[in-house]
Amino acid sequence: MARRHAEISGAGFAGLTAAAALAQRGWSVRVHERAGSLRTAGAGIFIFENGLKVLRAIGAYDEAVAGGHQAPARETRDAQGRLLARLNTSQDGRVYTVVRQQLLEAVAQAARRAGAEIVMNSEVVSATPRGELTLAGGERATADLVIAADGVNSRIRDALGLLKSRVAMGDGAIRVLMPRHGDAVDSADEIVEHWSGKRRLLYVPCGKPWLYLALTTLLDDSAGHALPLDARAWGASFPHLRPLLERIGTLGRWDPFETIHLRTWSSGRVAVVGDAAHAQAPNLGQGGGCAMMNALGLAVAVDQDPDLGSALRRWEARERPLTEHTQRVSRFYGAVGRWPERLRSFTFNLAGRSHWLLEQRMRTAHHSPTGT
Ligand SMILES: Cc1cc2nc3c(=O)[nH]c(=O)nc-3n(C[C@H](O)[C@H](O)[C@H](O)COP(=O)(O)OP(=O)(O)OC[C@H]3O[C@@H](n4cnc5c(N)ncnc54)[C@H](O)[C@@H]3O)c2cc1C
Repeated sequence: MARRHAEISGAGFAGLTAAAALAQRGWSVRVHERAGSLRTAGAGIFIFENGLKVLRAIGAYDEAVAGGHQAPARETRDAQGRLLARLNTSQDGRVYTVVRQQLLEAVAQAARRAGAEIVMNSEVVSATPRGELTLAGGERATADLVIAADGVNSRIRDALGLLKSRVAMGDGAIRVLMPRHGDAVDSADEIVEHWSGKRRLLYVPCGKPWLYLALTTLLDDSAGHALPLDARAWGASFPHLRPLLERIGTLGRWDPFETIHLRTWSSGRVAVVGDAAHAQAPNLGQGGGCAMMNALGLAVAVDQDPDLGSALRRWEARERPLTEHTQRVSRFYGAVGRWPERLRSFTFNLAGRSHWLLEQRMRTAHHSPTGT
């Protein structure tokens, strides 16, 4: 068979993983990124066992986790800092927390090593089911496979009419990445989710030098999502965290949460993957994990079956149920956050001890992705 060619829109975790996996299988691959450089929001990211397996399979593991953090435990605490639940991470599979930029560059390097071309300042304006791609500069290209990995606002997905639902979850987060001083304020090595009313603050060490914070609140909490961060408003919710909040200064970026479902993940020669196809609220830390799993699964499917239509159908049938389970559990977890405080605390306490609830929450992390 002649060497097959893929054109990919978007150099995020989904596009770059697909690029690496296809190029490693002998495809010629070109990735278009509209930005001038590879960059992510200044933040950290959780990579659970499933994502680590994908990174291993595409040869990005060592660079991705170098200097990363493996927390001894994940804790849930109330507004006074009292412990509601504690899960020892060693009991429950590995999770690394790393700086996003490092992860993205590791995956990009794996793609380049395999021979994929990554073109910056290259914006895709449209793609057709026949595999034709048009760039902002007017250039046209054709491919055996076009991958729309262009994120939550995917232009290709919308133009192809694939969107079934796009739901704003009513909340969002300010993400902050800041240097760690290693003093009483930021020396704890556990990952801790602090809850107070409808606000929560996720404390995540990312190796020795960096601390990642995610401050989640409702869209109608205007003081809660103001930027620069309103340290006084957040300090009123978490008095014991005031010294930490005061260090944030002008850092931070706000993103609302959304859940996306498509009618189908492909149309003709176009496959949609990552947030473009299945964005989710980040309550389980699995949006990027699902993006990478489904991108690798896509490469495996199209490589195994020369009939693209049947390969894409098999890919979706194999990967979609777990992704939708992840979206459901994440959505449920977000809903619990809106319950009255006592009921919520009771639920977290129960969730920390219920094997069944834990299994629902960790099913994605424990999954062995296709191709690993
Ligand atoms: C607060 C928060 C915390 C999160 N925490 C975690 C976590 O801990 N673990 C985890 O696994 N996931 C997490 N996620 C989810 C994760 O960030 C996303 O699921 C992941 O980034 C999706 O990757 P992607 O490649 O699909 O999309 P993106 O990362 O959005 O990449 C899309 C790329 O396409 C480019 N692009 C867009 N349009 C075009 C175009 N027309 N032409 C060319 N290029 C284009 C964009 O510039 C971008 O580079 C979190 C999300 C949020 C909001």
